[in-house]
Amino acid sequence: MKLVKNANILAPEAIGVRDMLVGGGKILAIEPKIHLSGTDLEVIDANGLTLVPGLIDQHVHVTGAGGQQGFASMTPPVELGALVACGTTTVVGLLGTDSTTRDLRSLYAKVRALDQEGITAYMLTGSFVYPPVTITGTLRGDMLFIDKVLGCKIAISDDRSSFPTAGELARLVADLHVAGMLSGKGGILHVHLGALDTGMKVLLELVERYHLPARRLSPTHVGRAPELFDEAIRFALAGGMIDISTGGTRFDEPYKQVLLALQRGVPISRLTFSSDGNAGVVKRDAAGNVLDYHRAPLGKNLEQVIKLITDGGLSPSDAFRLVTSNPADNLSLSCKGRIFAGADADFCLFDEHFSPRHLFARGEAITRDGVILKKGNFENA
Ligand SMILES: [Zn+2]
Repeated sequence: MKLVKNANILAPEAIGVRDMLVGGGKILAIEPKIHLSGTDLEVIDANGLTLVPGLIDQHVHVTGAGGQQGFASMTPPVELGALVACGTTTVVGLLGTDSTTRDLRSLYAKVRALDQEGITAYMLTGSFVYPPVTITGTLRGDMLFIDKVLGCKIAISDDRSSFPTAGELARLVADLHVAGMLSGKGGILHVHLGALDTGMKVLLELVERYHLPARRLSPTHVGRAPELFDEAIRFALAGGMIDISTGGTRFDEPYKQVLLALQRGVPISRLTFSSDGNAGVVKRDAAGNVLDYHRAPLGKNLEQVIKLITDGGLSPSDAFRLVTSNPADNLSLSCKGRIFAGADADFCLFDEHFSPRHLFARGEAITRDGVILKKGNFENA
């Protein structure tokens, strides 16, 4: 067991300086003072440190992505060390444009590998295309029989999508709605929004005209362009959650987009950040020639949360919601993203500059004093 002493806890709501007891991968108790001793009790002095739920990143290309400039432009798989270095303890892996050379079976294997290496990983079935690719042959089958599957991904308004109609999307949402009920899982349709000017009008139609439950839809990359962001705000005001990518194309810094949404009346509970980490990014010169390839970084979520606090004037408690309790709610993960007795013991201890000092996932130390203790099995090979 571990006893964390005198941590300033953001659960993510501020609950003050508390002691926290951890055992069996779970948070066992949170009290003003916990007095315990014993040879197998490790005491962690958290004096002056802020304890926050382990970060959730709900959009990461864990098996790699890219490939749009040919095979040599495919990004490699993510490694555990890169995820935990940014305070992430829960990750959702998904496919991107390519579901031909990459597939859901290898995504499932990678998700299980990350789990075995120490964090918690989930996945979405589907990819960019319609009808969605699946493992079992049907969307409902994947949702019901594969524990790791929390929902389905699809792309719209993108020249790489299958241009699904409103009716086709409605049937997917209805399918996920039933599958979500039957499996007791989230059952969301995570919708990649591309650069075409059709934006997310079809999603607004599904909610406003067909009265499909907005909570089943999870639009992402909403900050790509101002017009798209206007539609996203309308969607959020109608009850949906919108996901702002901290990597990739966007019209302004993600933290400024959050401030804009708040100004326009969107409750903070409807906003999430995700990194789009490990997506393929291509740098070009003015003539369009490729200069270099790199992977979308994983650390932008934390960077933007800190900017919300330092530049945006948000309380740390509110700012951290975008990467803790809000994505947990979007994904219906009841034991993640919050600090309470009974939750999974995923937490990060930050210093006064919000630099991650210690990270714990399911009660096990992953980083200590900023040094990664647990790397992926092949990271140094
Ligand atoms: Zn992506």
